[in-house]
Amino acid sequence: MIQLRLVKLYDMMAASRLDGIVITKPKNRRYFSGFAGSSGMLVISRHSQELLTDFRYIEQAKQQAPLYEIVRHGTSIYDTLAETVRQMGLERIGFESDFVTWQVYQQLTSCLPTIEFAPVQLDCLRMIKDRQELDLLATAVEIADCAFDQALNMIRPGITELDVAHELEYQMRKLGAEKPAFDTIVASGVRGALPHGKASDKVIEAGELITIDFGAVYQGYHSDMTRTVAVGKATDKQRDIYAIVLAAQLAGIGAVKAGKTGKEIDHIARQIITAAGYGEYFGHGLGHGVGLFIHEDPRLSPSGDIELAEGMVTSVEPGIYLPDWGGVRIEDLVVVTTAGCTVLTASSKDLIELG
Ligand code: ZN
Ligand code: ZN
Repeated sequence: MIQLRLVKLYDMMAASRLDGIVITKPKNRRYFSGFAGSSGMLVISRHSQELLTDFRYIEQAKQQAPLYEIVRHGTSIYDTLAETVRQMGLERIGFESDFVTWQVYQQLTSCLPTIEFAPVQLDCLRMIKDRQELDLLATAVEIADCAFDQALNMIRPGITELDVAHELEYQMRKLGAEKPAFDTIVASGVRGALPHGKASDKVIEAGELITIDFGAVYQGYHSDMTRTVAVGKATDKQRDIYAIVLAAQLAGIGAVKAGKTGKEIDHIARQIITAAGYGEYFGHGLGHGVGLFIHEDPRLSPSGDIELAEGMVTSVEPGIYLPDWGGVRIEDLVVVTTAGCTVLTASSKDLIELG
């Protein structure tokens, strides 16, 4: 897999007339080498690849990055980098312009004064997931689905949003998650109008809807799902809003297909909410790519220009948020295929009325 990922990098290097590339962004370092440690630098040419890291990570690097020559650096990684680049005979090197700070850039150019540095963006090379990544994402999704199933047993009036979040996080860790994918969102009652209402000490009451948005990280890969459940019997208005969001979500999923842009898919889901009269209460994009980061390209949004391709993984998550009333969001992860998409999230989307 790493070899195939390096081929993507070689193609990009050829297109940008680079004979080398320096990778410092941790997720890209992991993607192109397998090394998951928190410190180190990849130096890659067409003919060789080296991983510079410090004493703490030498053994880990040897195990996780077998395609790389592991080089231990001393107090200054830049001295070692200069020596590595000299040995590789590089002249024009790409650096990650969306990650390298001005200070790091100054260090790069001062330790390698004769080298020409060119800005590159590598995140786009991670948009299409390979088999190994799809398996890890599917496991991360499965962990969240199972944790949700468990957590439903304990949700009742009188417990707090944080109680629900802690239960979800405990269950996910028990099922093999490294950690939650982000701060778990549990937004009950009027707090449901906050699209990113982090779990609070608010007590859950009968008659409320609860929006629960969470995910697991499994071997570096994130899952992301949202379900909105009713505590007790739902009112007509709660049912109506839920039905509109679900219809938009299903239409969005139905529209996902290789060759479509994020903008086109967003529009199809959004027009259902707009036609129902709630367009102004759906103020965010329909979805986002997910992988080593919780939010990646491609975006499904009114400005999403990227054309979807087979193997991309994206969320589909419309919502309606009514101030002083509450909200509903429903979110699944899907894998883009040439025929449409495969939905990874398995939890039911029928409105659950607890108790
Ligand atoms: Zn989410
Ligand atoms: Zn999401």
